[in-house]
Amino acid sequence: MCLSEPQAGSSLADITTRAVADAEDELGRRYRIYGAKMWISAGDHDVTDNIVHLVLAKAAGSDGVVAQGTRGISLFIVPKRLPSGDLNDVAVAGLNHKMGYRGLPNCALNFGEGRALPDGRAGAVGWLVGEVGQGLPQMFQMMNEARVSVGLGAAMLASRGHLLSLAYAHTRAQGRPLGSRSGAPVPIAQHADVQRMLLAQKSYAEGALALVLYTARLLDLVHSGSDDEQADADALLAVLTPIAKTWPSEWAQRALDHAIQIHGGAGYTRDFDVELLYRDNRLNTIHEGTTGIQAIDLVGRKLRRDKGLGFDILQRRVTATLERARVHPAFANEALALSSALAALAGAAEMLMTEFEEAEAIAAATPFLLAAGHVVVGWLWLDQALCCEAFGQNSDAERTFCASKIAACRYFSVFELPKVSAWLSPILGANALGKILPTDVFAEP
Ligand SMILES: Cc1cc2nc3c(=O)[nH]c(=O)nc-3n(C[C@H](O)[C@H](O)[C@H](O)COP(=O)(O)OP(=O)(O)OC[C@H]3O[C@@H](n4cnc5c(N)ncnc54)[C@H](O)[C@@H]3O)c2cc1C
Repeated sequence: MCLSEPQAGSSLADITTRAVADAEDELGRRYRIYGAKMWISAGDHDVTDNIVHLVLAKAAGSDGVVAQGTRGISLFIVPKRLPSGDLNDVAVAGLNHKMGYRGLPNCALNFGEGRALPDGRAGAVGWLVGEVGQGLPQMFQMMNEARVSVGLGAAMLASRGHLLSLAYAHTRAQGRPLGSRSGAPVPIAQHADVQRMLLAQKSYAEGALALVLYTARLLDLVHSGSDDEQADADALLAVLTPIAKTWPSEWAQRALDHAIQIHGGAGYTRDFDVELLYRDNRLNTIHEGTTGIQAIDLVGRKLRRDKGLGFDILQRRVTATLERARVHPAFANEALALSSALAALAGAAEMLMTEFEEAEAIAAATPFLLAAGHVVVGWLWLDQALCCEAFGQNSDAERTFCASKIAACRYFSVFELPKVSAWLSPILGANALGKILPTDVFAEP
């Protein structure tokens, strides 16, 4: 996908790549593309014979000039090799040397600078997908699912870090139980602080997986559910997509930080995989829309523009799980923690929709996104614990599996859900960031 440009990442309205109408042929409306793209994953390689780029560019008018803003942004199929077998005018301008994901080359690509001359002249040949001006909606069709996939990738990295940590914590002997001065060192898995980190990792990794699977199910229901199911899934998906992209990405990083910590000095070396996982995951809060951009989407569009439609459905679903928890006194504390976090989130959502100016609401968007993510994952943890209580006690393996799920649910409720009120307190107190900042605080160094 060739969307980003050196000067246009989060703001794709500012792309300057131009598409100039060329001719019509058996593949459709043909254009010549001119411009520079940046950060293109697998933008060039020799794994396949050909590479087919999907390029976002602005279609020029008959005077050759492109419009400002999003008008005219369109999608083009631009192959590295043309159907004739000749090279297209697409050149690798350079490789980006990344912190992680090093198995995948990342390139700056130049289109139409004359490195190859299709039909004797400069200009990368591309064919229009659909209609002129539809490029952004077309890209977003792919991007919404891509965002959930980013969340899944993050959940996977967190999960692998957790499993590596568990294995290491059982084999690494160090220190003795509290109060004991002699005897052999014990595995670090027996120390309370290591157990705290292991449980945190589990709650982030499996909480992220639950969130992504729930969202993936909604993606299916949008296509295959009854009319009512489709409408609800669509509205809920709108709210959950930025959360499913961001929460796993942000909290996998914490989980992998714990993974390095559990490995001690070994975690800081390349001899163990956890530093690689940490570097790989760091990308996930950046690509497919940064955390800040997801937060603006959640608060600006999904909350304020849609008047809380999907958020109301989310609240009803969390409340239904809280109702189920009522008949399980064993989970009374977890239910209480979740219901007060939900109440705080609902109060903050109302404030953002009705009491805040747009700029104030946007300034508070990331803390709101973090809080919403914790409430949603707290809800899914309670749901998993209730399922374990109801169904999972038929064998030793099931009992162990369920005991660890319930422990993670309790951990999340006691140690994580209280963070929600801290994130939301500025919003609930009607304190926009702008109110505490003098204007010249960010003077250039
Ligand atoms: C390894 C890697 C692979 C990638 N693969 C691809 C690919 O295959 N194809 C592709 O097209 N792109 C790809 N990208 C690009 C990626 O999508 C962009 O890096 C991302 O969208 C952010 O754009 P940027 O880097 O220009 O940062 P910027 O947009 O400059 O953002 C910098 C910071 O400012 C914040 N910010 C920006 N605008 C606002 C705003 N309006 N309000 C509040 N905060 C704001 C951001 O949240 C961020 O924290 C890749 C990037 C990387 C690093």
